[in-house]
Formats: sequence, C-alpha cells, structure tokens
Amino acid sequence: MGKKYVYLFKEGNGSMRELLGGKGANLAEMTNLGMPVPRGFTITTEACTQYYEDGEKISDEIQAEIMHYVAELENMTGKKFGDLENPLLVSVRSGARASMPGMMDTILNLGLNDTVVEAFAKKTGNPRFAYDSYRRFIQMYSDVVMEVGKAYFEKLIDEMKEKKGVKLDTELDADDLKELAEQFKAEYKKEVGADFPTDPVDQMMGAVKAVFRSWNNPRAIYYRRMNDIPSSWGTAVNVQEMVFGNMGDTSGTGVAFSRNPATGEKKLYGEFLMNAQGEDVVAGVRTPQTIDQLKEQNPAVYDEFYKIVYTLEKHYRDMQDMEFTIEEGKLFMLQTRNGKRTAAAALQIACDLVDEGMITEKEAVSMIDPKQLDALLHPQFDPTALKAAKPVGSALPASPGAACGQVVFTAEDATEWATKKGAKVILVRLETSPEDIEGMHYSQGILTVRGGMTSHAAVVARGMGTCCVSGCGEIKIDEARKVFTLGGKEFHEGDFISLDGSTGNIYGEAIKTVEASISGNFDRLMKWADEYRTLKVRTNADTPKDAAQAMKFGAQGIGLCRTEHMFFDSERIAAMREMIVSKNVEQRKTALAKLLPMQRSDFEGIYEAMQGYPVTIRFLDPPLHEFLPQDEEDIAALAKEMKMEVGDLKAVISSLHEFNPMMGHRGCRLAVTYPEIAEMQTTAVIQAALNVQKKHPEWDLVPEIMIPLVGEVKELAYVKNVVVETADKIIAEAGSDMKYMVGTMIEIPRAALTADEIAKEAEFFSFGTNDLTQMTFGFSRDDAGNFLDAYYEKKIYENDPFARLDQIGVGKLVEMAVELGKRTRPDIKLGICGEHGGDPSSVEFCHNVGLNYVSCSPYRVPIARLAAAQAAIKAK
Ligand code: PEP
Ligand code: MG
Repeated sequence: MGKKYVYLFKEGNGSMRELLGGKGANLAEMTNLGMPVPRGFTITTEACTQYYEDGEKISDEIQAEIMHYVAELENMTGKKFGDLENPLLVSVRSGARASMPGMMDTILNLGLNDTVVEAFAKKTGNPRFAYDSYRRFIQMYSDVVMEVGKAYFEKLIDEMKEKKGVKLDTELDADDLKELAEQFKAEYKKEVGADFPTDPVDQMMGAVKAVFRSWNNPRAIYYRRMNDIPSSWGTAVNVQEMVFGNMGDTSGTGVAFSRNPATGEKKLYGEFLMNAQGEDVVAGVRTPQTIDQLKEQNPAVYDEFYKIVYTLEKHYRDMQDMEFTIEEGKLFMLQTRNGKRTAAAALQIACDLVDEGMITEKEAVSMIDPKQLDALLHPQFDPTALKAAKPVGSALPASPGAACGQVVFTAEDATEWATKKGAKVILVRLETSPEDIEGMHYSQGILTVRGGMTSHAAVVARGMGTCCVSGCGEIKIDEARKVFTLGGKEFHEGDFISLDGSTGNIYGEAIKTVEASISGNFDRLMKWADEYRTLKVRTNADTPKDAAQAMKFGAQGIGLCRTEHMFFDSERIAAMREMIVSKNVEQRKTALAKLLPMQRSDFEGIYEAMQGYPVTIRFLDPPLHEFLPQDEEDIAALAKEMKMEVGDLKAVISSLHEFNPMMGHRGCRLAVTYPEIAEMQTTAVIQAALNVQKKHPEWDLVPEIMIPLVGEVKELAYVKNVVVETADKIIAEAGSDMKYMVGTMIEIPRAALTADEIAKEAEFFSFGTNDLTQMTFGFSRDDAGNFLDAYYEKKIYENDPFARLDQIGVGKLVEMAVELGKRTRPDIKLGICGEHGGDPSSVEFCHNVGLNYVSCSPYRVPIARLAAAQAAIKAK
C-alpha cells in the first residue's frame, strides 16, 4: 500500500503533529476526547511536500485519496457536495506543525454556487443567511486562492451599505447580499479572466493548492527564518464540515484563551460576536462582546464551553487558544492550540502551572521560548500606541528594544544633542564605525543603511543593549545634507522616528515607550534553568558598566573583552593613532606608554566588576585603518602632537590603506609585526590583575589572555612567547605566584583544521564564529546583508549564518577543532564568543559538541542560560 495522505479526524491523535500539523492533530485529539468537533479530515504535511516534489501539482493519487475522503465525509454527514437537497459545505484551513502567521488561513462555506445557494436558502428557510455565506465564500476564495479583490470587495460592501442607508453588514438583506455576490463574481472574472468555479470539487482542489502554495509565500518564509522553522516541514490542510455562526441571533462565533495572553492571569479571556462568521471577530467589522457576556446571554452554552476550556487546558497542560462557533444554540469547537503569549505572560503562566501542580519545574523551563526573554530586558513600546502606528519601512532586527527619538546624522551630533540639549536621539548612518561609539552610547537607537547582523553597529549595539535596526537598503541617505527618505517620506535632523529592534520596523513618528520590568517570575524561572544546565554562560563585555550589567543577568565570567573597543573614546583615540602612525619602535613605545595606564585601569575596573569570575582579555584585533583620522582637522591635530609634517602623516596614512582589511593587518599579525603592542597589553592585564588581587585576597584571579586570528601554531607561539616573558617578569618582580593562561581564538578555518597543533600552545580555545563564518563562507560579515535576502527568497539559505550557526559547514570545523584540540590537551577549556553564543539553536549545538561555556552580549545572558538548560534537558 502506498503512503496514506489523508486522515479522518477520528483516525488521528494529538501526537501526530508532524504529519497532521498542529491544528489537525488537535482537532483529532478533541474528537477523541468526545468534544463537539464538526467532522472532517486532514490532508498531511507529506502531501504538501509531495506537491512541491511533483512540481507544484497535486498528484492523481493524492487527488483520488482526497476524493475518497470527501465521499467518507458525505457518508458521515449525510450531505453531498453540490447536492440540491442537502448540500455539503466545508471549511478549508491550513495547519503547519508550528502555528505560522503569514500563511493562508481559512476559506469558509466552500461548496456553494449559484444553484446550491438557492437550495441552501430554501433548506434553512433563511435566504439572508445563505446569500451572506455565499458572498463571504466568493470574497475569501478570491482573496486567498486567486489573490484578487480584497480591498475592492470591501469597497463594494461599503457602497452597498451607503446605497441602502445602513451602518452594519447585518443590516443588509438577502437581496442586497445576492447582488453583492454577483458583483464579486464579476470582479473575479475581470481579474482572473475566467468564471468563478462552480464545481465544489474544483473549488476544493483550488483551495488545497492555495494552502500548499501559501507555505512558500514571502511572509511565511520570513516567519520561518525568524523562528528556525525548516522549509522541509510543509503544511497540512484541514477540511471540515461547516457549522454556521451566522444563522441568526442564536448563532455566533468567537475566540478565547484559557488565561490572559497579555498578563498570564488565570481567567477565561475572549470575545465573540452573535450572528457572525469567523473573520468578523478578528476583522473588527463589528465590536465583539466579551466572553463574560456570553455567560449572561446563554449560560448553558457558556457552562459547556467553560468546562471544555479547562478540560483542554488540563489535557494539554498549557494555556489554550480556542475558536468556537455556536450554531442555533449548539456549541462546536473549531480549534485549540497552545496560545501565543507575551513574555511576561509566558513566565506568569509557567510559574502558575508549576504552583498548580500541573507541570514540573523542568517542564516550565522547557516551555519558554528563550528568544522571548529579550522583550523583558529592554524598553518596550506602549502596546496601544504601537498598534495605532504604521511602519514606514523595515530592516534587520539587529538589537532588540524600542527606541524613540530625534534623528541625528553624526555621532558627534548624537553626543552633543544628548549631553547639551538633553535630547533623546536616534543615530541614522550609512554604516557605523568605531569612531561613532560615543555617539552610539548616547543614542536611544541606531539605524543603518548598510550592514548585517554582525556588522559593527549590530555587535556594538547588542553589547550596549541599545536598540538597533540595520541594513535598511530602502533608505536613501544624504549624510552631508542631513536628510534621508524612506517609505516616500523625507526625514530631517530633529524629526522624530521610532525603531523596533525586535521586529526591525521603522516608524516615522514618536511612539511612547515603557521601561521593562524584570519581575519575580523571571528570577524564579532562571533559577530553575540554572539547575539543569551544564554549559557555563559568560559575557562579551568591554567596559566595567557592561560587565556589571551582565553580572546582574547572571554571567559567570567574561568570555571576550575586545580591548580595541576601549580606544574609541575621544581622548584615547589620539594616543592610539599615534601608535599606529609611528615610524619606529621608539615612537611606538612612547605612544604605547600613554595607553598603558588607561588599559590597566580599564582592566582593573573589569576585574572589580566581575568579582573574581574569570575574565578573558583579547589582544588588539581590528584592522588598524579603522582608527586612522579621516578629516583634515584630526590629521592636523595628530601631526602637531607628533611633531610631524601634515604631508608626511598623510603619506603614512595612505601607506596603511588595505584592499581587504578584514583579511589584512589585524589580529595577531599586529603583535607579530609590533610585539611591543603585546608587551604593553600583557603588562596592563597582569598589573591590573595583581592590583585587584591585592585588594581582594578572597578572589583567585587567573588572567586569561587570548590571541586573536591565529591560523598557524608558530605565530601563536611567537606572540605567546612575548606574553610569557613579559608576564613572568612582572609576576616575579611583584613576588607573586599568580597563574595565568594563554589561549587563542579559533576563527580562521586553518586554525580549526590544525587545532591539534594549535593546542600545543593554546591552553584554551574560544570559537570566534563571526570571523569563522565569514571566512568559511567567503563572504563579508559587513556586506552579506546586501545579497542574503535573495538567498532566502530562493531558499538557498534559510537563515542568516551570522545569526544562527551554520551547523553543517562552520559547525563541522568547530566539532573538528574540539576533537583535535582535546586529543592534544584533554583538559583544554572550550568556549564560543562569536555572536552565536546568544542564539538558542547555536547554544544547543555548543552543548552537544561539548563546549564548556558560551559567551554573549550582556542582554543575551539570560537567553543563553535558558537555552543551555533546554539543551541539557533535551539531550538527556
Ligand atoms: C569573532 O570573530 O567571532 C569574534 C568574536 O571576534 P570579532 O567579532 O571581534 O571579530
Ligand atoms: Mg573575530
């Protein structure tokens, strides 16, 4: 026997999500529980996959099976497709494994045509109802199957209401609705070039195809990418006998949640409309009534419903989101699923379910989506204000949170407006560079035209917990004139805009924001999570302030302190520049001597903030040209400071130009060419650690020095030697026995390939998966955003490899390096400090390959803690 592609509801059950989709599995489960579910069948997700394999065709075999089940349904109901005595009408609805907004949702009343509608009118004795159902069917079918007429149909309805002098849809009579149905069909014919299909079988195959097709519409693809849903899953289709909420005043339809989805409060929460069909409730045509009013209007139905709601909640042991219809006083359940909820509600519900004894702490840990926690840690938009606003554009949600402020175009302006005028500003840039750091600090949010998820703006903003939307290619910007256009609107300096760093939406107006609050539930759940995880969670932090923030969020150390980030400050950049343009060792040492005390005091601050937890300090990494002065004024000032001719300095600057700076003079190459840099940094680290250790004898500080961008063991050995000589001397002179470690980043493919060699010198590995991804794929982390969209659309990539670790390719290098590294040094310490360290699916990968810790930006520490716990629970 071939594969079974169709299941009656009574043939399935709740555990068959993969095959039947969430909706189908739950309809089957409710049927088995003896609940009032209209009869029907589910066409499996495998039929959807097969449809794509067959070149977007429903094979004869599957069509025949569907028809077989139509006949079954006809037998069960005693109704028939197209019958003039007792016609069968059905709903057709999509249903993937995970509920997915953006896909085709529902077609109701399928099976009606010009003759059936008349028979239906006669049979029900309610012509108004029959024609209302018919016009709705044409409207939905045209919209979702053929994608025509949506707005136009609404206009026709409005015109009809105006003509009749009425306000509500319900005030239109049978003849009006009949006329509307005619108008709709005419519009369909005009747009599609064919008559509206009259044969219910054609209608149904058209609808099934539309569901399959909608699996791959751009909204669905985008949603999948954001939620890690593979495109191979496909969607199921549910075909179900119609029950009618629009049969008159004893009929109605509604939606309800078993607990409040916004707050989590344990109280039945919902809305319904009498004499209406499904979409009326959500479409806002009429204002729905609250579920409490149902209790007054129809206590018997309310009681029955109430009982079902809490039976379902108990059965699924989670908050339920349900749809129901009342047909002439009789209740029917159309759907149930675990309800979507806000982050605050998610925590409240999880804690309550534990307290009610419905779930265990472990289950509570597993039921929270780690990414959702983000919403609790950053300022948010006031939900009502946000609802009323319309975005003018959208781009990459690079760093979450909500920001509202006045547009400025330079980092200097951001600093000045914020410090002198007390203004809240949003920095809009083509792209940001290290020099912008101070202005970024003073901004509420950052919007860039270029750059992906690991671009400078994105990484730095995430580190600071500042909202950032990056890579908005639709923006036309003229930074010199201080103006940009987006969504047909022009924005000038001082105009208010708002950014949603969690969705990537950009609003051309001010939207009110509210501070985030971390409630007791948050803490409680995090403590449960910590009991289950084995991965440690560290943070990427470059300043004492970020480090302290991360400690509050539960970080167990610093996995990456990017020392170059300490030099962007206006005072320090001068000394840094001096060092870079130095012509000889003496000049360079003079400049480095200026930097030494600054670094030392920074490191002291960081050691203090981390209260004895381990700190990995990475030596200078970025391409030097990032620090070079660009404008004439800065160049002149630097020349003066260094007693150089401006022309000479310009020559030095241009000699430092590189065609490919990301692969140029950066990382450990800097220390190989200028060992005095490594010497100065070692001195700063060790002296800082000694000073803090003296103040805090209770701590056992073991500085971890990390050499970046190593590809060959000999270059590591060379730099390590500089470090060891310098460190040993300082420690000996201080009469101390302080231990320290020297390790490396694995971020160049060659380092992963030769990790057994590298481990001879390195006491720890930290996977720099930003560079490792960049160099494995061979595309730039700063530019990939420009073309990746085309790759998503064409389904070549499903995810941004800079946001979610490519476990197949880059992951293979990581696994290989883990294995090779351990072979040489069984106790080697292993971590990750690329951006992936805060991405839940990548955290799971890190757990599975046996890393000791992940390190991520402070605001992602709680996410990583929860993801690590879930990975451990799952792996058991
Ligand atoms: C990396 O490459 O993954 C990394 C953490 O270093 P950076 O982002 O500073 O290059
Ligand atoms: Mg790197």
